[in-house]
Amino acid sequence: MDALTQYLEQHQERFLENLKACLRIPSVSAQPAHKGDVRACAEHVAAHLKSIGVPHAEVVDTAGHPVVYAEWLGAPGAPTALLYGHYDVQPPDPLDLWKTPPFEPTLRDGKLFARGACDDKGQVFMHLSAIEAHLKVNGKLPINLKVVIEGEEEVGSEHLTEFLESWKERLAADVIVVSDTSMLGPDQPSLCYALRGLLYTEVEVTGPTRDLHSGEFGGAVMNPANALSTIIHGLKDADGRITVPGFYDKVRDLTEQQRTAMRELPFDEAGFIAESGAPMPAWARRATARSSASRRARRST
Ligand SMILES: [Zn+2]
Repeated sequence: MDALTQYLEQHQERFLENLKACLRIPSVSAQPAHKGDVRACAEHVAAHLKSIGVPHAEVVDTAGHPVVYAEWLGAPGAPTALLYGHYDVQPPDPLDLWKTPPFEPTLRDGKLFARGACDDKGQVFMHLSAIEAHLKVNGKLPINLKVVIEGEEEVGSEHLTEFLESWKERLAADVIVVSDTSMLGPDQPSLCYALRGLLYTEVEVTGPTRDLHSGEFGGAVMNPANALSTIIHGLKDADGRITVPGFYDKVRDLTEQQRTAMRELPFDEAGFIAESGAPMPAWARRATARSSASRRARRST
């Protein structure tokens, strides 16, 4: 066993305690009552970074919740990675659905339950533990590292853009590792790339100025609810492809190699559907729709 793995195994219990200490801080960014806890959590993470041997770690104020920034730049000539994570968490409500208190991390069946355990404090502390192991065993990291751990991810990262813009030069890196993602399975370490974006908009459909009698006006005047559903329906075709012009213009096609790699992933389809709680996945729904459409077509010929 190499020295790094040995270090990780020897200190596993303590790593877990480190994570638990962070999980006990109710850093709920959405609730003003927790503003102090959010800051305390930022201070906690920065102090932890220093304690594991990262020479520079600071809490940076923004117009909202603070950002934790740290760097280790002792590998001249080597690439620089920027690690992103967040230390804030979602509100824990409804509380009566928790088997154990959300801010009292509890192990059950080998799993750690607490608000933020897998989003995103667990991921953050996984990296911090790995950084610690490198620094303690080798006295250095194999690459240069910059760390940004924000406190507003769960409320739309409102002030992150401002921070990124004013820190642009200091944050320059060859690669960004966004560690706010999940793994394919408990024993399947995963590297996620090409994450989906998010776009939201408000659409207002206006109609008649008063309630209309369906017998007199139905059919002649469009009901705004119908108009809205027509608009929403038109956003995707029967195969689930988005029909907005230009939407796919900058989307790169998957290479054959990527398709093959994805096909080879041990994806658990049944588990995925069960986790969603949906009766069937969209692709099965579309396949059903297609086969009944072709049955109808056959009947009519
Ligand atoms: Zn997250």
